[in-house]
Amino acid sequence: MDQRIIRILQEIVGKDQVTTERADLICYSYDATQQQYLPEVVVFPADAKQISLILKMANAEKIPVFPRGAGSGFTGGSLPTRGGIVLVTSRMDRILRIDSENLVAEVEPGVVTEQFQQAVEKVGLFYPPDPASLKFSTLGGNVAECAGGPRCVKYGVTKDYILGLEVVTPQGDIIRTGGETMKGVVGYDLTKLMCGSEGTLGIITKIIIKLLPLPEARKTMLVLFDSIDGAARAVSAIIGGKIIPATLEFMDATTIDCVRKATGLQLPEAAQAVLIIEVDGEREMLERQAQKILDIVQPLGVVETRVAATPAESEDIWKVRRLVSPSLRKVNPDKFNEDICVPRSKVPEMIRAVEAIAKKHAIPIVNFGHAGDGNIHVNVMIDKKVPGQQEKADQAIEEIFAAALKLGGTMSGEHGVGITKAPYIPMELDPAAVAYMKTIKKALDPNNILNPGKVLLD
Ligand SMILES: Cc1cc2nc3c(=O)[nH]c(=O)nc-3n(C[C@H](O)[C@H](O)[C@H](O)COP(=O)(O)OP(=O)(O)OC[C@H]3O[C@@H](n4cnc5c(N)ncnc54)[C@H](O)[C@@H]3O)c2cc1C
Repeated sequence: MDQRIIRILQEIVGKDQVTTERADLICYSYDATQQQYLPEVVVFPADAKQISLILKMANAEKIPVFPRGAGSGFTGGSLPTRGGIVLVTSRMDRILRIDSENLVAEVEPGVVTEQFQQAVEKVGLFYPPDPASLKFSTLGGNVAECAGGPRCVKYGVTKDYILGLEVVTPQGDIIRTGGETMKGVVGYDLTKLMCGSEGTLGIITKIIIKLLPLPEARKTMLVLFDSIDGAARAVSAIIGGKIIPATLEFMDATTIDCVRKATGLQLPEAAQAVLIIEVDGEREMLERQAQKILDIVQPLGVVETRVAATPAESEDIWKVRRLVSPSLRKVNPDKFNEDICVPRSKVPEMIRAVEAIAKKHAIPIVNFGHAGDGNIHVNVMIDKKVPGQQEKADQAIEEIFAAALKLGGTMSGEHGVGITKAPYIPMELDPAAVAYMKTIKKALDPNNILNPGKVLLD
């Protein structure tokens, strides 16, 4: 990159906060997709004013800018696919205030999700969105992706907790969207537009978050089924029974096997599927709710149930779920983690469709995830070094998306589009809707400098 541009960046953020060192560029060249694109320069701004100056300069010079939180995205959203500037929010990591009277907090985008959750829980409050990446992902990245997680079945996704934002527009203006109040309908809802916009419409520099009171207690259950169909039908039966658990997580037989092999956890051989169900709320109510759930699922081929009596036992149950991702690589070295979402009642049909696709292409496909909201993580496992496997995986993924759409679902419940799903956009959105979205992008970012080539493939 032109030394003149580097000097301007150094003037804006300080010499120490700009790097063109190859080792640093490599550190910011990848995300969880395992794809790699080298940026030309990485900058670490301290506030919205500095970001505004960076974007004004980038606009004048037509240099692409790629916002980045923790780089844990699964769809390549933060990858510098066209060189240019990677703008990292790690220095903007302050929790500015937690207002216990109004149940509101204000944070900078680089705050790590779990640290925020722990801070609000210390004062008896609750921030429900809980992506499995919460130990390292940032709230800015969560808002930009509208992240979800196990608790979303009862509590909703990130956008349901965002009241307002401070945003630097692609042209460098600093704007406020929404506000602090629980209601507010003045003007277009730019807050919702920004949530899930994947860093293509503006850079989030402050977030006003709605909080809830921390539930008094939780009860966790592990239910093992003798068939995948039984577990999938149990999801519909529980919700149909008018109970919304705080989490309703699902794992198929291959997933159970991976966890068993990787960790030595004692899970019976007869178990073909698992549900981890957690209810939360007032202590007295939980026993009754848990029993009602067990009664509902019992006729559906239950092999065994474990109900945690203590927080430590609950932690043991959650350990089963948390060990899924690390243990999957035992199946095959390369994994494509798709996060399709279907209407809850269609979960059994979707699982059957995935099983048929796996059989047809003779590749392992491992299913687990947030079955309570119909969001299944379908992991196509291959070894890229084996000739023909990549092609099979590509074909299988397209068929999985087609099956989800046929059932009234979507190709992404929480990971977004980024670059990996962009080619499939025409399968889900009609051309007029895509044109409408492109009009918004063009109007807000006429020089296409902010995260170009993402989501809509310009
Ligand atoms: C092990 C693992 C488990 C995961 N589990 C889940 C899960 O359960 N649920 C889920 O939803 N996701 C999950 N993810 C995906 C990922 O963690 C989420 O998408 C997360 O929200 C990304 O946050 P990040 O800070 O890493 O953002 P990044 O990956 O750095 O960026 C993601 C997108 O946000 C944009 N962006 C980042 N910061 C800003 C900002 N301040 N302003 C504007 N745009 C910005 C980037 O340009 C990019 O498009 C998981 C990932 C991993 C690796």
